[in-house]
Amino acid sequence: MSSFSPINADLHSHSVISDGTLTPEMLAERAKANGVHLWALTDHDELGGQNRARAAANALKLDYLAGVEISVTWMGETIHIVGLGIDDQHAGIIEGLRMTRDGRGNRAKLIAEQLLKVGIPGAYEGALHHAGNHDLISRTHFARFLVEAGVCKDTQQVFKNYLVEDKPGYVPHMWANLDNAVAWIKAAGGVAVIAHPGRYSRLNAMQMDELYKHFKDIGGLAIEVITGSHTPDQYQTFGKIAQQYGFLASRGSDFHSPDESHIDLGNLPLLPDHLTPVWSAFH
Ligand code: AMP
Ligand code: MN
Ligand code: MN
Ligand code: MN
Repeated sequence: MSSFSPINADLHSHSVISDGTLTPEMLAERAKANGVHLWALTDHDELGGQNRARAAANALKLDYLAGVEISVTWMGETIHIVGLGIDDQHAGIIEGLRMTRDGRGNRAKLIAEQLLKVGIPGAYEGALHHAGNHDLISRTHFARFLVEAGVCKDTQQVFKNYLVEDKPGYVPHMWANLDNAVAWIKAAGGVAVIAHPGRYSRLNAMQMDELYKHFKDIGGLAIEVITGSHTPDQYQTFGKIAQQYGFLASRGSDFHSPDESHIDLGNLPLLPDHLTPVWSAFH
């Protein structure tokens, strides 16, 4: 049994500094209003929102952990590693994230070229218009542009018909190396967490086993169990995985936008009592 009370922690969320639509301040207020006790802003590959998020959380007496969600290429697949409780001024992680972000501008131009070929002009400028941070142009910004342009009715439809493998606008990309990403997080004093393990359907069971074991070997400590990306069945599945491999368990909505996210900040089932929460690492 875990001796930590099951608090309303939301340790995965995005602001306009990556591909969310709310500012760090708006997110802090929303988290507070929704009864969150411990919050982390985890923008993709970017720490530019951390000062604002921490200041807003402090002003609201909301406990805060500095966070990030790092894009990683592992066995040819994209996976996401969340870092929690990092020193967001640490030079090593800042430089690692800068390198990770680096190819996004060029990738965005290639995405736009593909969309042009299927009769959708102006996608680069359109996506950039939606990006709050021009260093962090993401598929989400293209998805918003395609909805705005009337190509799809919502971003879910976009990710079914565009921007994913075998569809127009898919550009394979090499993100950070897993060992490097975990090393940056550890060097910055943080805890590395495998984000939404239920989303990696292109990795088979043996590859997932290899991922958990390797991640553990290199000092990864936790996996997300309760996340906006998991179904209730997957809460069970990944709760068992956490126990089996000896991982701490994390909880986070992966909230991006009031208009797009089906799970609001803090609005998730609590972590089951028998799992050891990732925030136990910070007491
Ligand atoms: P990128 O890092 O530019 O490849 O963009 C990845 C982002 O696209 C993710 O962080 C999600 O916010 C969004 N995304 C990916 N797949 C989907 C999906 N099926 N539905 C909605 N959003 C998605
Ligand atoms: Mn995202
Ligand atoms: Mn993710
Ligand atoms: Mn995320």
